[in-house]
Amino acid sequence: MKHPSVPLPRIGMRVIKTAVAVMVSYALFLPFGLTYREELGGVLGQMGPLYACIACIICTQSSLGQTFYQGISRLIGVLVGGALGTATLLLGPALEHFWLKTIVLGMVCVAGVWLCLLIKRPTACGMACILPCVILITGVTGVTRYYYAVARIIETIVGLLVALAVNAALPDHRPESERGGMDMTVEVKNSTRKLCVIGDPVGHSKSPLIQNTMIKALGLDYVYLCQPVPRGQCKAWLDCAKFADYAGFNATMPHKEELVPLMDELDEDARLIGAVNTVCIRDGKAYGYNTDGEGFLRSLADEGIDPAGKRVMVLGAGGASKAVCLKLAQAGAEVVVCNRTLDKAQTICNHDPDHLRPTGFTPEELAREAEQCDLLVNCTSLGMEGASGQFADFSFLDSLAKSAPVVDLIYAPAETELLRQARKRGHRTANGLGLLVNQAVLSLEYFTGTAIDAADMKKRIADVL
Ligand code: NAP
Repeated sequence: MKHPSVPLPRIGMRVIKTAVAVMVSYALFLPFGLTYREELGGVLGQMGPLYACIACIICTQSSLGQTFYQGISRLIGVLVGGALGTATLLLGPALEHFWLKTIVLGMVCVAGVWLCLLIKRPTACGMACILPCVILITGVTGVTRYYYAVARIIETIVGLLVALAVNAALPDHRPESERGGMDMTVEVKNSTRKLCVIGDPVGHSKSPLIQNTMIKALGLDYVYLCQPVPRGQCKAWLDCAKFADYAGFNATMPHKEELVPLMDELDEDARLIGAVNTVCIRDGKAYGYNTDGEGFLRSLADEGIDPAGKRVMVLGAGGASKAVCLKLAQAGAEVVVCNRTLDKAQTICNHDPDHLRPTGFTPEELAREAEQCDLLVNCTSLGMEGASGQFADFSFLDSLAKSAPVVDLIYAPAETELLRQARKRGHRTANGLGLLVNQAVLSLEYFTGTAIDAADMKKRIADVL
């Protein structure tokens, strides 16, 4: 007879990091003794490893970011609880009365929790309660009580720092899909409006992380989710989103074109590019926008690049390239679109033949075009993390004028081989983070009607990606 197999719990990085942090904390405090050694005198005499180890267990998470977030909250809890506990010691001998101590303990816990909630740090509540209890429920008396309290606070803070250091030193081996939990925590209320990204597949999308980071930073009452929608099902999804009272959604591959005829109104860029990446639902009507092209122009402006009157060489003729080329042409640039499949470059150029010209992707063609251009933009997937392709050679960069900036739409890795080669040759370079942030900021502005500081968001998003 076959026995059902019982899955064993996985020993992951969080468990290993916690064990290492506990060992380090224990070793750090061992010289002070396991039990309190009054002969050392003062605070040192009260030191021991227990609370540092407890702090490590509570605070160590899978990533440095999460531990930092937990650590800050717990540190606030330690400070609130430590201050309340130490202040309560001022009641002196009165605390030896059983009922008074019981009532004081209850009141201190209520005060600790209330203060933490007041400053919107619910995860600090535990420490804010535990520490006064640790300080008050002890046999030590007289001035030693204060040493005891200070020792507990120091141990807990050292434990937090050890947890952070261990996280910084040890790698985060979790799969990409499990990372980035820290900034996905958004307060959800009954009034919270829903947003999401749709795609097929969409599980890898960074949009929920980016949008929830911005929503949290701006204190907006929205939550941003990830919604798989199979190819060809946009109409069904749109009805569903309207019924479920979504404020809007973003669309990624393969839905951007399919959404166009489903919109009640289209903005100028969505019409120009023939693709919708942002849908706002207002009074049951769907308004379609495209923020990719404008996001790209804004990212150029952030780098101090004005495409007007420039000769721009765009590599690639996929969806991203179309938005980039049409907006560059609209901004007054002369664009040559270099693509492996010439027909696709030709199709883009047919939209604005006065400003757009197609060509192939051979090393000779790339070198010839590079010679005459003032700005190079890579819109191919060559060099992207997880994608197999790479440029066959970078000799075309030798033909490029030193003054020509090189921009890559790819943001992972932060520096592609193309950007590295260009930087080595003395060119100014920029990756795709600017576009990623600017198009997301524009979308959130459409969804919420709130003006957003894109520079501030770029720093925050770079931290969480
Ligand atoms: P896409 O529609 O699949 O287009 C891919 C392009 O890359 C096509 O022009 C394709 O040429 C070319 N290509 C792929 N492999 C090649 C190879 N081995 N040799 C030569 N050319 C090759 O993709 P997309 O949506 O336009 O995205 C393109 C890149 O931009 C991706 O890396 C994406 O991550 C990035 N992107 C970044 C942002 C951002 O926010 N920063 C936004 C959108 C896109 P063919 O036409 O000949 O197949």
